[in-house]
Amino acid sequence: MIEAVVAHARAVAPAECCGMLLGRAHEIVEALPARNLSADPNRFLVDPQDHFDARRLARQRGLELVGFYHSHPHSPSQPSATDLAEWSYPDALYLIVSLASDTPEAKLFRLEDARLVEVSV
Ligand SMILES: [Zn+2]
Repeated sequence: MIEAVVAHARAVAPAECCGMLLGRAHEIVEALPARNLSADPNRFLVDPQDHFDARRLARQRGLELVGFYHSHPHSPSQPSATDLAEWSYPDALYLIVSLASDTPEAKLFRLEDARLVEVSV
């Protein structure tokens, strides 16, 4: 799953990549790439059609859309101020992959009581 996200991140760098995470209650099974509609290379905006398709695919496979991923080509895998401002789904997991160092770094976050909590991948 992480490998697929890293490969997607590298393919579109220096722009940010984005996509959806499919899984079950406490397990991420699959990462699905989405188109990034943002023209700003430091932001991401998931294509609503891809979001819709991912929800349908998840249902077909007996999974749920449990979260989203995106990449930080040049910065650490900490949510940026923009990420926090645009945190659209309070119940979702957010995976951020950083390509800033030689070894890609992935961190998973969720909101708990309006605070950001890091979750183990
Ligand atoms: Zn970000």
